[in-house]
Amino acid sequence: MTEYHKTEKVQLHAPDLEELRGVLQAGLKNNFAEVQVSVVDCPDLTQDPYQFPAKGLCGSPRITDIGGVQNLLSSVKINKEYDMNVISKQLELPGAFILGATRGPGNILGFNAEVITLILTELEGKPAVNSSHYTCIGPDGKCQQGKYSDKTSDCKIGPLGNLYACEGKPGKVVEVRAKKRTGNHSLVTALRKTLRESYPDKSLALGGTFLIQKGKAKVHLMPREVAPCPVKTPDKANDYLRIFEVNAPLICPTVLVSKDPDIDLRVEHTHCFSRHGEGGHYHIDTTPDTVEYLGYFMPAEFVYRIDEPTETHAINNKSIIKD
Ligand code: ZN
Repeated sequence: MTEYHKTEKVQLHAPDLEELRGVLQAGLKNNFAEVQVSVVDCPDLTQDPYQFPAKGLCGSPRITDIGGVQNLLSSVKINKEYDMNVISKQLELPGAFILGATRGPGNILGFNAEVITLILTELEGKPAVNSSHYTCIGPDGKCQQGKYSDKTSDCKIGPLGNLYACEGKPGKVVEVRAKKRTGNHSLVTALRKTLRESYPDKSLALGGTFLIQKGKAKVHLMPREVAPCPVKTPDKANDYLRIFEVNAPLICPTVLVSKDPDIDLRVEHTHCFSRHGEGGHYHIDTTPDTVEYLGYFMPAEFVYRIDEPTETHAINNKSIIKD
């Protein structure tokens, strides 16, 4: 299989989990009334409510940023696809468990979708297991969710993705419990800002998954029709994206980066799904007084930038056109 071009690999600062625990415990208190951060054994993620294709988040943790928002603006590039079985090799981790937020491949699905990618990639003849979910606007205009594997047997994503990859092993992870939001930041932004402020000169990244156990969340979905995004500027994005309020419990794989080491990274991206048919691209909870988060995270050792678009730099983080 042919590799995708323009891979850059940058080492990240991956602190010891106990140190990270202390940093997050102190920082998240600026955004939540109740915070409990611990170092624990990763729960078995093959079990409910997760049903992921691998048990844990451990072993050679790394992240990747593939493609980008710029690809959504072009009628050719909007149909770019990336096969996770190829990507796992480019991440120097064949057989990796890959999880995160991606845009669905429009040509394959036939509609725009925010995909929750959960793939155990192929290894030495053992076929891949694709447990991904897609969320989209249904023909009735409502939020709809389905299993990616019901649509196709491949392991592809569309023109952009923010993913965490590891060996999928059990092991120690950082557990975050946060209740009652007192600040203006989402859980992901609060984690990111805490790391940025605690390690101002270093680039850190976390990957993992969290639950919104109680409350509701604001998500977006894109229009169903696969067509280049007509919106070129952030202030017009709300005319294009459709905002929904969805109910807990929600399962939210995520990737976040504290500081871009100048390779045009998107600094956070989270998609969520549920067992009741709701999901999408997570913005923030809408029920600060009652919200309860429970998350499991690992610091990544490397970031791999794959197929970085050549157009305008840093649009990812300035724009709110975030699929
Ligand atoms: Zn998204």
